[in-house]
Order: sequence, then C-alpha cells, then structure tokens
Amino acid sequence: MNDTLDKYKELVKLINVEYNELSNVSNDELRAKISYIEQCIVVCDNKQKALDNYLVQVYAIVKETARRFSEGNIIVTANSNDRSLANHYDFVEIDGDKAIYRNSWDVCGVSMNWNMVHYDEQLLGGILLHYGYATEMATGEGKTLVATLPVFLNALTHNGVHLMTVNDYLSKRDFETTRPIYMFYGLTADCIEYYSRSDDKRKKAYELDITFGTNSRFTFDYLLDHIVISPEECVQQSHNYAIIDELDSILIDEADTPHIIGGGNYYNEGDIYKENYPIVKELVESKGIPLFTSDKLKKSADFTEEGERWLSVKKNMPGLFVVKRLYELSDFDQLDTDKQNEIRERLFVQNVLRQLLNALVLYECDEDYIVEDGKIKIIDHHTGRAKESNRWEHGLHTAIEVKEGVKVRDDFDSMAVISLKNYFRLYNKIAGMSGTIMPVQEELQSVYNLRCTSLPTHKPLIREDFPLRIFKTAADKDKAIMDSIIENHHKGRPTLVGCISVKRSEEICNMFDEYAIVYNKLNAKTVKDEAMFVAKAGLGNAVTISTSIAGRGTDIKPSQDAIDNGGLMIIGTDLFESVRVDRQLKGRSGRQGNPGSSVFFTSLDDSILKNLNDEDMRMLIEKSYCYPESEISYDDIRCYFEKAQANREESLKDNRKETARKDDIVDPYRRKFYHQRNAVLFNSDAAEEIVDVIIQRNNASEELIDKNLHSFYLKTKELLIRSERNNINRTSIDVPFSDNMHPFVISLKVQLLKTGFEYFSKEFKRQIVLQIYDKEWKVFVQYIMGNLDKKEIGLLAEKYNMMMKEVHSKILRRLKNATILFEIRDVVTEQPDKPDNNPKEMNRSNADMDLEAPCPCGSGKKFCECHGSNTRRNNRDRRRR
Ligand code: ADP
Ligand code: MG
Repeated sequence: MNDTLDKYKELVKLINVEYNELSNVSNDELRAKISYIEQCIVVCDNKQKALDNYLVQVYAIVKETARRFSEGNIIVTANSNDRSLANHYDFVEIDGDKAIYRNSWDVCGVSMNWNMVHYDEQLLGGILLHYGYATEMATGEGKTLVATLPVFLNALTHNGVHLMTVNDYLSKRDFETTRPIYMFYGLTADCIEYYSRSDDKRKKAYELDITFGTNSRFTFDYLLDHIVISPEECVQQSHNYAIIDELDSILIDEADTPHIIGGGNYYNEGDIYKENYPIVKELVESKGIPLFTSDKLKKSADFTEEGERWLSVKKNMPGLFVVKRLYELSDFDQLDTDKQNEIRERLFVQNVLRQLLNALVLYECDEDYIVEDGKIKIIDHHTGRAKESNRWEHGLHTAIEVKEGVKVRDDFDSMAVISLKNYFRLYNKIAGMSGTIMPVQEELQSVYNLRCTSLPTHKPLIREDFPLRIFKTAADKDKAIMDSIIENHHKGRPTLVGCISVKRSEEICNMFDEYAIVYNKLNAKTVKDEAMFVAKAGLGNAVTISTSIAGRGTDIKPSQDAIDNGGLMIIGTDLFESVRVDRQLKGRSGRQGNPGSSVFFTSLDDSILKNLNDEDMRMLIEKSYCYPESEISYDDIRCYFEKAQANREESLKDNRKETARKDDIVDPYRRKFYHQRNAVLFNSDAAEEIVDVIIQRNNASEELIDKNLHSFYLKTKELLIRSERNNINRTSIDVPFSDNMHPFVISLKVQLLKTGFEYFSKEFKRQIVLQIYDKEWKVFVQYIMGNLDKKEIGLLAEKYNMMMKEVHSKILRRLKNATILFEIRDVVTEQPDKPDNNPKEMNRSNADMDLEAPCPCGSGKKFCECHGSNTRRNNRDRRRR
C-alpha cells in the first residue's frame, strides 16, 4: 500500500503543478478545457483508462474552480445551460450575454459562503476514491469536498455516478453544497431524496450524470424496479460507480438488516391480533412458572413448553403447538385438505401469538419505534431516524399497532429482498469514505473486496478525549452528566449531548427542567428542524440534546467565541453499540484542527453490561465493592465496559454474517429471476412468446383462450366508451379480473387501448405473466429466508425449476378461467386517479389493492365495499389452501 500511496502522492504534486498553471486561464477557457476532455473521454472505449489519463488535469481544474468560487463571483459568457440554470437556482444569474455564478447559496435553507479549496490531503483522498478504495479520513476533514473530485471526473463519462450517504439531510446538504461546481461545467446532478417514487423527477434524477441519495433509497428503488408491471415505472438505469459516504455505517452497521419490500401474505384477518392481545398480555404478566423466555439484546422471545400448554388450554386448541414448521412435515402434500388447512390455521395462530409476545416484551416505544400521527414508525438505530414507510414483517408491526392502540394497517410479508453486499455487487466500481474504516477493514476486505487505507489529517487533531467516566448507579451518572453540561455552559462552550435513544434524550431533557438553561432537542420526533438545530449547535454556549441523528456526518461549526472558550464539548450519556459509533459522536468536535473535547458516561446499571457473561459480571460487581465512592472511573473497572462493547460488536458481526449467508443463497436465483422478469417487462413480445409456449406444451386450446381474451377486450372497451360518455378524462383504465385464484387488476393505457385488440392482448399477457412470476418468486424467497439446512440448499435449483413450472400452469389457468369481475354500470362519479406509485402502493397487486380506496370500476364506492368485498376472504382462502 505504501508504494501505491507514494505513487498517488506524486499525482498530488502533478495536480498542484497543473493547478498553478491555471491561474491565468479565463473562466471561459476553463470550461472549454473540460468540454474538450469530456469529448475525448466519451469517444474512448476504455473509459477507466481514459479517466486515469485525465485525472490530473481534471482534479486541477476542479481545485481551480473551487478557488475561484472562494474568491468571489465567477463571470462567464452565458450559454444555454447557464440560462436554464438561472431559472431554477439561486447561485446563477444572467446579465446580458454574461452568466454570473455567485459564491454564496442556500444549503438546506441556511445561507453558505463557499470558502473551500482542496488541500493536498483532500486531493489524495479524491485519488483514492477514484481508484476504488475505502478511505479513512478523520471526521471533519472535509469529505464532502473530497468527493467533488472523483464525482466530477467520473461524471464526464456520462455513465452515472451515484453518491450515497446515510440520511436524507446529509444527502441534500452535500448535493446543495457542491452542485454549482458540477453545474458550472454543464454536468447534470440531482438528489433523489426530494422526490417520491411516483414523481417523474425521481426517474430523471437517475438519468443524470450525478445522482445523490441515501443508500436505502437506492437499494429500494432497485427492488421496486423489479416488481413494477410497466417498463416506464422503472427508475434506476445503471450501476456504474458508487461512492459511499459514511461507508462503515452503510456496509457494516446496516448490513445486518436486509432491504425488504413488503407485499406478500396478508397477515391480519378479522381482528385476530386484537382478540389474542389480552391473552398474551395475561401470559406475560402471570407470575409463577415462566411461560416465556426473552432476550432483548438478541430480540428473541418464545413461549416455554409450559407457556405453550397454557395457551393451548386458554384458547381451547389442543395440540396448537405440535407442528412448528411446515417444511418439517415431509408428507404435508399427501395429507387431505382439511388436515392441511388445520395445520395452516394453527401455524397462523402461533405466529400471531409469538408476534404479540415480541411486541410486548421486546419492542419499546421511543426506543424501537415512535408513535406519530397515529402510526408506528420504526426508528433506525444507526441513524436515529424514523423509517417512514417501513413496517416490521410477519405481523409484528400489526402486533405493535394493537399494543399501542393505533389504527391497524394492512400488513404484508416480504416480496423482494436484497442485502447491501449483493446490491453493491451490481456496480462496476465502488469506493467510499468515513472517519472509522480501519477498525472494520478486515470485514470490508473479505466481504466487499474493498482495499482500505487511512489518510492523515490536514491539521493535527487537538480535541481532548477524556477517559470514560463510570458510576455505580444510573442516578449518580445522570447527576454527573448534568453537572458537566452546566459547567461547560457557564464556561461559554457549546455542548452536544449524545443519547442512545429517543427515550433517553427525553429523559435528559426532563432533567433540564430544574435549570434555567435553554436547549435544543434533536431526535426522530424533531427531525424537521434538523438543519436549523445543527446551524445553532455551535454558537456560544448552546446545548443540543441529540440521538444518533447528529452522530454521523453532521457538521457543527463552532462560533469564534466558542472556539476561544475551548470549542465544542461532546457528552456521551451512554456507551453506544460499537466503538466506531462513539468515535463518530466525538468526531463532531475538533473538526478542521479546532479545539474541542469529549467525555462519555456510563454506570453499572447500564444495559451495555448485558453483553458480559455471568462470570465477568460477577467479577465486575465484586471489584466495584473495593471502591467506596460513587464514581469508579478506574482502569480495572473500565476494561469490563470495553469488553461488553466488544462482545456486542462480535454478536452484531455474527448477525451480519448470517444475513449475508442467506442472501448469497438467494443471489444467483435472484439474478436469474430478475433477468427473466426484465425480459418480459421490457419486451412486450416476450410474454406473448411465453404464453404461446405454454399453450403448445399443454395442448391447450388457443382458440378458446383467444375467445376469452376477446370477450374481456370488448367489455373493457365498453367501460371506456361509457366513461368517455360521462366526460371522464382518463389516461389509464384499471380492469379488475377474477379467477379461481383471486382477483387482480390490470392497468391499460387509454390511448393504446384505442389502437385495438392487439395491444390489449399483449398487455394482458404481460401483466399476468409478471404478476404470477412475482407471487411465486415471493414464496421461493420466503422459503430461502427460513432456516434451510444443507440438504435443502442442495435442492434449491430443483425447487426453482419447480417454481417456474408452477408459474406456467398458473398462467394457463388464468388465461382459461379469468372472468371480468364486474358488470359495467353507469359511471357517475369522477374516476379516481391511478394509484400513486409510492412504495406501499407499488407493492399492491391484485388482492392487495387498497381496500379503502375507491373501486377502480368507477362505482364511487370503496374497493372493499364493491369489487374488493371478497378480498379479505380470498386472501385467507389463499393462505389456507
Ligand atoms: P467530514 O465529512 O470529513 O466529516 P465535512 O465535509 O462535513 O467533513 O467538512 C467539515 C468542515 O470542514 C466543513 O465545515 C467544511 O466547510 C470544512 N472544510 C472542508 N474542507 C475545507 C477546506 N479545504 N478549506 C476550508 N474548510 C474546509
Ligand atoms: Mg461527511
């Protein structure tokens, strides 16, 4: 590595030579240079090589541009790009034939003056990112600016650069901070975080040279692109080059939660969760023989044998728990239908009871979720933010809704899933940066094949990190925390107080009630004001109480008086799950060589100690008796806290391994399946060909199927004519069908529908093929996500082929048997808009239609009261079949 680093350091020198020569070049000439380089790169076959060749020149120009912006406005001859930008952005203005690029613009609503020119360390970081390294640069070193170099260079290929980070605030902030640099040269850039998936701008943002966004948005868009049923709904075009900011958070911390899109089985018929809630609550509260076990850290709970017996009696369902997994029953298929239904019913009830148990004993309000606007919103532990549209799976979310007494929403099981590892494998090149790479370099190397390296800071770090302060009790600890905050406040220093959960942040805020100190609270509930709180957090002696929302990436700028008084003080009110997370919080202070300090507090009551084994815990308690005082900040005590944290990290690592293992099993099949699916999605003849093959293989009557289709077509036409007669302007028409499987809806473009039967027939075939593909694929994925043993893994290829066979027979059945679901009546009300394509809506197909939405037939009634009235029943029948 050292050799390579030396080589790259040589490049830094060359960049600076080139940069110095640019000072007399006019602004127009600077643009002409980039234009020329861009044309050269575009015609090159080997893009990577071409980029390598132009790196020095381009980096020098980007640095020179940064310098010109930092010295004032940049004036150039206006071109059409400038004129169009001037209509949209505050940083450019047209004056006659000149375009004036200002050096100050708004970033997340706060005005910013550009004052940055790339340091040598930043140039070096930029080179490493171009060459695909995971680069450790300390917090506050200016990674936002570093990224401009490789992003700019690689954008010149127009093959797309994706710049990802952990949360939408940072993504928008970095986009808004740097976009003038790119746009000045006509490179196009946008951030997907501004737009919903149904917004055409989201798709357009992906078509640009540079796309900013959060890693989960990128991943989910990929998954959603593979469940849509019309090609126009796909948004993500290509996977060329991804730069991942806060790389370890994304590739390590978040890697234990796979990205999952709901849309499978419906989990709550009738009010089965509500009916069972009091029973499980009674079980949880009962004294005596333990009826359940639970481990909050591992998030696992189950009934004991006693508990199972208790529930069987209580529910009057003898043998309720006899069968626990369907695939354990090798002869299930041979059982008669009644027996099969009984077993399915019991498994279903078991799941309801277990999820209620989980909801009661493992998941806590303001820790795992918040209740906001009558909804349960999951809190992401890594980012401290609410995951707005996510739901827990397998009915857990419903169970928590029942526990909290909020409206129960429809709950669906996973239908598309991918791990980050396999998502990033799609890219030609990935690179990333963070302040905490080296502690996880082995994992990054082995799992992601990423080379890791660490760069020195531009200015020496002078932040003072005080040793961990340990107290015997939580009360003593909290008192010391308050004393410390107040002391700093009086010294005129700003303080950032970091908390592990929303609940903890509320507790700390409550402690302030006794004091006349004004503070700002930044957690999942107050995130709307994030930019404002961050802007204020470094001023004077401000106190900001925050969850991990401000733990990563946030740039708190201390005011001059704050710097004079010692800079930003970081107070950790608990140890976090990993040392890296602690380090990230500390890293909010001492940025760019500023003064600052940090101290963390902990106590023997803290939950981190649950990660110690019994023996270590006993020793720790014993040792603590040796010290009479309430504060026990000694090395022989501290080592146990370090051990607890290390144990926690180790167990998280195991979880990640398990997720990766499962996803690796799915991956080859997913690729194969997505390939097949895309062929149908993007080529309307493909479905037709598949259908023809199926018809031939099964000796089905083509005539009959054509006749059937023709009759659908005529009915659809009639519906269209009727709605036009009623002056209803539609661009598409939804047609609900039914067969012996369940109803489903196909959407047809009115414009194309008018062209005749051929379009209708093709579209109909494409949509049934896709819908049936998806249903069967979901079952396959769920099977894999269960605990497969070796033998089962060996049989997967066979299972996949069986699935495809099943798909064919289902397609045939549908072609033969589907009937149009409704009688066409007079349409009296305005036809509702086509369902919005937001992720939740996208998941619905067929029976998963929003029951509360107006029925697509145009009757004006709700779907559930009209043609969807049998949806719930159908769902249940399907599950039990
Ligand atoms: P990081 O992502 O590495 O934690 P940021 O990109 O948030 O750091 O930058 C931290 C601070 O350093 C910001 O306030 C930024 O304006 C400042 N900064 C970064 N690079 C420079 C530079 N070359 N000159 C002056 N200030 C800089
Ligand atoms: Mg950053």
